[in-house]
Amino acid sequence: MEFDCWGRVRDQLQSVIGKDAFQNWIEPLNLLRVTDGVACFSAPTSFVGTWVDRNYGDKIASMMTAEGVVVNRLGFKAEFMVENEEKKSTVKPTVPTTTSAPTGSKDLLGAPLDKRFTFDRFVVGKPNELAHAAARRVAKGGPVTFNPLFLYGGVGLGKTHLMHAIAWEIKERDPKTKILYLSAEQFMYRFVQALRFKDTMSFKELFRSVDVLMVDDVQFIAGKNSTQDEFFHTFNALIDQNKQIIISADRAPGEIDGLEDRIKSRLQWGLVVDLHPTDYELRLGILQSKAEIQFAQYPEVRLTDGVLEFIAHRISNNVRVLEGALTRLFAFASLVGREVTLDVVQECLADILRASDRKVTIDEIIRKVADHYNLRLNDILSPRRARSVARPRQVAMFLAKRLTSKSLPEIGRRFGGRDHTTVIHAVKKIEELRAVDNQIAEDVELLRRMLEA
Ligand code: ADP
Ligand code: MG
Repeated sequence: MEFDCWGRVRDQLQSVIGKDAFQNWIEPLNLLRVTDGVACFSAPTSFVGTWVDRNYGDKIASMMTAEGVVVNRLGFKAEFMVENEEKKSTVKPTVPTTTSAPTGSKDLLGAPLDKRFTFDRFVVGKPNELAHAAARRVAKGGPVTFNPLFLYGGVGLGKTHLMHAIAWEIKERDPKTKILYLSAEQFMYRFVQALRFKDTMSFKELFRSVDVLMVDDVQFIAGKNSTQDEFFHTFNALIDQNKQIIISADRAPGEIDGLEDRIKSRLQWGLVVDLHPTDYELRLGILQSKAEIQFAQYPEVRLTDGVLEFIAHRISNNVRVLEGALTRLFAFASLVGREVTLDVVQECLADILRASDRKVTIDEIIRKVADHYNLRLNDILSPRRARSVARPRQVAMFLAKRLTSKSLPEIGRRFGGRDHTTVIHAVKKIEELRAVDNQIAEDVELLRRMLEA
């Protein structure tokens, strides 16, 4: 009864607190029992317990109560104590030994690996081909040539996916390899905890005994000085032993504020590759591949031609958002039993579509237009009226009116302090020309597509 209740609450929590927080804090917990209004959990460390209690305690208690088991507060036991107290086997089922099972969080105290994050499921396109090639190369093993491998890129572009894929492949080839994958946040918590329990020796031993160390989202330790120090020492010790290190961040090493220079330069010794924002082709490829997976789950769903293309056009960079949109669409379609047409997409994904309307800036427009016509930025902004400059300037104004929400006077100001009537004239002129001049029509279309990509 209380276990079913916890199962339902767990499922809800993922959407309440987000996937990452869920994985970090909730997934490692096991409900032991509920007595006298106290829900008792085992947690991998006492720190995790304290943290969950402080941040989600009330929420969990009220959710469990709402689901039918009265809970007033939570209690936590650190896992090693539980094992002594109530025999390991009653606490946790033994982890199946297939390679596709997520590794438990107790496996070397790393974070669990997501079994969907494999190379098979990673769609490769121009924006990520280098990062993918580097990841494959490192996963192949052999002499350590790229050390560290530093992957960086914006949110939801596949950094974590690639890291897990490397780990799965190495594990599959050589299950004995000790791989430690964790977020920089977890690295810090472990370290802080070791300091608190005056147990830095075993912390150091643990980290220095691994064959492959993966630290995700390393920007998180920027500015946290003692953690940085420890990270640096661990890092050097492993590199000296020729152990592979893989690191990810949301930007290039040199651009992480608050990261010490010696660390920045050390990180750059290896191979630094970035994941670029997705382009239309990659988004479409990803959607097609994810749609296949969805069709397996919802075989009754029908998509009108052009639906995936529409989503690939309209939903931004972040692959996580793209996936979320598709999942919702299939669930919706299967529920209402209607064919998914563009109207259905617009209805079902209205909020996501609105949120990912790309905000094009006037600066970007001016830059792209200048590039396209081989002009300098100053030409566009200058008072020159020669046709070779004036026409591109009008194109840029036209695009600024169409693609941004800026007012006419604002646009005029940004184009070298022109009057809003000049902008109106430019917009009209380009409208007219587009109808009769193929070259202009093509230029405008091409620029629009580049700017909205
Ligand atoms: P990051 O760590 O860069 O923020 P993730 O690796 O967590 O991003 O990716 C976000 C989601 O998008 C994951 O579900 C991942 O599987 C998916 N994803 C990202 N890139 C790709 C890709 N190229 N092919 C397939 N799925 C992808
Ligand atoms: Mg990530």
